Amino acid sequence: MTTIGFVNQKGGVGKTTTAVNLAACLAAANRRVLLVDMDPQANSTSALGIERDGRSSYDVLINGLPMAEAIRTTFVEQLDLVPSEPHLYGAELELMELARREHRLRLALEPVASRYQYVLVDAPPSLGLLTLNVLTGCERLIIPVQCEYYALEGLSMLMDTIERVRAGLNPTLDILGIVMTMYDARLNIARQVVDEVRAYFPGRVFQTAIARSVRLAEAPSHGKPVIFYDFRSIGAQNYIALAEEVIHAVEKAGAR
Ligand code: ATP
Ligand code: MG
Repeated sequence: MTTIGFVNQKGGVGKTTTAVNLAACLAAANRRVLLVDMDPQANSTSALGIERDGRSSYDVLINGLPMAEAIRTTFVEQLDLVPSEPHLYGAELELMELARREHRLRLALEPVASRYQYVLVDAPPSLGLLTLNVLTGCERLIIPVQCEYYALEGLSMLMDTIERVRAGLNPTLDILGIVMTMYDARLNIARQVVDEVRAYFPGRVFQTAIARSVRLAEAPSHGKPVIFYDFRSIGAQNYIALAEEVIHAVEKAGAR
């Protein structure tokens, strides 16, 4: 099993869109996938059309519910989900009181690890304890970066946090890659930002950039990943290509 966290403390950069669509593409590529929603906004949960029924990542983190009991199947074959709910907002504070507060996701995942080839974890837009659990509980990170001005500024703070987690909580934490999102090839600025991020993180940026695509924005309101909403759309094709890159990096290239 490979655990991949989707992190960036900046809001609205495409963490959830990337986690959900990559999860669906990996499942479509015949991998067993678990998506864990660690964001109180529960956008990954609704993007898969899942209704809340009480058992969520909140219960796992705070009440010690076994992860296996929070797992839900989705309409996508081979894709399971641990849903989130707004209670998780409170977890940021409640975790402070608990033992092993940064390790609760990691410990909860252990018993279900053997069931899946990929566990993807969607993080909230903060660097609080929920995101720390993601950084501690995952082996690898995918960092979505929106093609806009100031993309790099937020990134240095994230990289500092990742370094600190590596120095203490999770020494083997590895950045699988940075994925450029909402790319608009018509705009010079988009190309400049991609070049700048590539220059700053050589070899760390996925070849595939995710285009700005209305279909990607629409799909969640239908409760579907984009490959089940409009397979031909550019967004669907981008996420299929990204999944191929991820599979190659994880399975063919071996551990770095
Ligand atoms: P948050 O930090 O709030 O969790 P996020 O980083 O998870 O946000 P998303 O929810 O994935 O970001 O995306 C933010 C918004 O942008 C959403 O409305 C989403 O539908 C839209 N969006 C994401 N990627 C694209 C894209 N490539 N093209 C068009 N719209 C997109
Ligand atoms: Mg999100």
